[in-house]
Amino acid sequence: MANLINQELIKRAVSVINPKNLKNGLVADVGCALLSGNDKIYTGVCVGVNSNGYCAERVAIAKMITDGKEFVIKKIVTVWKDETGAVFAIPPCGHCRECIRETDEKNINTEVILDKNKTVRLRKLLPYFNWWKKQKYSPKAL
Ligand SMILES: [Zn+2]
Repeated sequence: MANLINQELIKRAVSVINPKNLKNGLVADVGCALLSGNDKIYTGVCVGVNSNGYCAERVAIAKMITDGKEFVIKKIVTVWKDETGAVFAIPPCGHCRECIRETDEKNINTEVILDKNKTVRLRKLLPYFNWWKKQKYSPKAL
């Protein structure tokens, strides 16, 4: 059952990929699909090039919050398709990992799909997310 859901999310993420060459690079060459806490699927593509835009994950999350008024993410997958049509599942970048976590406390347990048969909880991708250790600090000691 889980594999079927993973497979469906991968399919949906691939379905929104629609690469377009802009002056400074490609957009929409990465797709994302997520299963929200209320069991709806939201998709997104990367927007903007280089560091001036949004990853597909954050676009899908923005749609979930805007259209679904939902903040919990049960599962998420991100895929990239190369020029030959080969599809690669890719883990979220650091910015997106943090965005997923910050969207709702429950999302630390979001399943990140790395393959239809392989998932990892977000907490494994952010092992020190709650490491805030108070330091004894004296500027004179430096
Ligand atoms: Zn990202």
